[in-house]
Amino acid sequence: MPIDATKPYDPDNVFAKILSGELPCHKEAETDHSFAFHDINPLAAHHILVIPKGQYVSWDDFTAKASDEEILDFVRLVGKVARDRGMEQQGYRMLANVGQRAGQEVPHLHVHLFAGEPLGPMLCK
Ligand code: AMP
Repeated sequence: MPIDATKPYDPDNVFAKILSGELPCHKEAETDHSFAFHDINPLAAHHILVIPKGQYVSWDDFTAKASDEEILDFVRLVGKVARDRGMEQQGYRMLANVGQRAGQEVPHLHVHLFAGEPLGPMLCK
């Protein structure tokens, strides 16, 4: 069920539980402020999620409220994960769903990284 990204952060969301260790994940990388792990239901041969460790509902919330240090750390980790996986040679797609109408289901900012196969058109309607 898509979420309402204008609501306050829900500390019980599934990615908060991954960050706290309450739920397992297939970890890819970690920095002081960010974390990357494999999507549980991959939509491409490589499908990795990058999230901030801070409590941000969405890209909108993050870019309005996060510190410069958190934003720098996050953006650099998205790029590093892609490079470490050789995605720039294959071509890859980054995606962040923001809010209900964009289909955001988990109310903790995440950037999807897709690669490893031809990715098709940008939007499937
Ligand atoms: P979105 O629709 O942009 O909010 O994407 C949420 C993503 O989180 C989906 O691609 C799910 O497959 C993924 N997901 C949900 N629960 C987990 C989990 N426990 N571990 C890894 N990925 C998850």
